[in-house]
Amino acid sequence: MPDSLPSSAGDSRFPPDSDLPTGEYAVTTAKPALESLMEITRRPPVIFVEGRGSWLFDREGRRYLDFVQGWAVNCLGHCPPEIVDAVTAQARRLINSSPAFHNEPSARLAEMITRNSCFQKVFFANSGAEANEGAIKLARKWGAKFRGGAFEIVTMEHSFHGRTLATMSASDKPQWRNLYEPKVPGFPRAPLNDLPAAAAMITEKTAAVLVEPIQGEAGVIPATDDYLRGLRTLTRERGVLLMVDEIQTGMGRTGRLFAYEHAGIEPDVMTLGKGMGGGVPLAALAAKEAVSVFEPGEQGGTFNGNLLVTAAGCAVMETLTRPGFLEAVVSAGEHLRGRLAALSAKRGLGEVRGRGLLLALVLGKDIAASVVERALRRGLLINAPVPDTLRFMPALTVSREEVDEMVEVLDLILRENPPYPDP
Ligand SMILES: *Cc1c(COP(=O)(O)O)cnc(C)c1O
Repeated sequence: MPDSLPSSAGDSRFPPDSDLPTGEYAVTTAKPALESLMEITRRPPVIFVEGRGSWLFDREGRRYLDFVQGWAVNCLGHCPPEIVDAVTAQARRLINSSPAFHNEPSARLAEMITRNSCFQKVFFANSGAEANEGAIKLARKWGAKFRGGAFEIVTMEHSFHGRTLATMSASDKPQWRNLYEPKVPGFPRAPLNDLPAAAAMITEKTAAVLVEPIQGEAGVIPATDDYLRGLRTLTRERGVLLMVDEIQTGMGRTGRLFAYEHAGIEPDVMTLGKGMGGGVPLAALAAKEAVSVFEPGEQGGTFNGNLLVTAAGCAVMETLTRPGFLEAVVSAGEHLRGRLAALSAKRGLGEVRGRGLLLALVLGKDIAASVVERALRRGLLINAPVPDTLRFMPALTVSREEVDEMVEVLDLILRENPPYPDP
């Protein structure tokens, strides 16, 4: 080391070596302390140990009504027999062969997706961000091959696409604007539901337009069906891809298997995640055959499409496509919407937004975080994606009684909150 460089010894930015005894390893206790975990978000002290349907139980035995379900992940509720049986049966047979070989559950799941969507090809990933990262790569490869090296992807203001560096760059979360710089270039942003703005942003450098049918993290802001149809026409006319991020809206969440169906369009690329594995880490990138331009070696991953998670995915798809299942989601969604609208009218709150069982209630004041906190203390899990809005994403199997109970608890909390006394 040259003399001119300062030594890191004693400098708190550079950690010293720890003085571990060699050859001895510690065993943790039944109730471990939490200090060893990186604090990547503020978490309340509660620790859940069991779940059943719409209910969670903490280690003190208290029960909680869950209208978050791991961010719309546990689409069939906690520990549904379909998932438990599929995962245990698969675990007993074979957990992982190798990504270098085909396996039965991933082939079955891919076929179930292609037979029930407008896509012909599927790639499995381990998280939504990874699926979107794959979509970005696919669009860039397609642009390189068919559009003279076009690589830009027009994204939407307030969008959320994940936490890898490229998907953070494609997202528009205000808290991320100056984080982890420099970002990945090539993601111009248009306001949602503004077709002329999107049209103005498409240039010879554009490979694709990427949109969420409903912007979940932004506070459940729907892209209108007309806008999605307009985007489909526009992208066809201009010769660029239309990609939908259905990580939150897909897998029955809006009352159809995929939310693009509401608009009657066929996108070129779709990403899935969250509810797809019914609780296990599973996501997917689906594409039209003509857009499926990856060549061997250009995309992959160690855990991608492994038997355990795709077996869970098969169980989810089988359940969602059962006759009557999605009709029940639609009617549960209508019931929840009706109860939220009545609560809003009673307490003078704002609009109810969203579709199916992805709904939001606007409170009109920035108190959503405090409502969420009070709800937790009363045994109810809800979510506040933005300061003045509550989001509801219960199990797709939620009962009317559970919806009614949730709304009663919410009403109780709002009544205690100064701006919303009894009328
Ligand atoms: C949750 C989400 C993602 C990211 O998925 P992860 O599994 O957290 O990586 C991407 N896009 C949308 C629309 C999401 O809701």
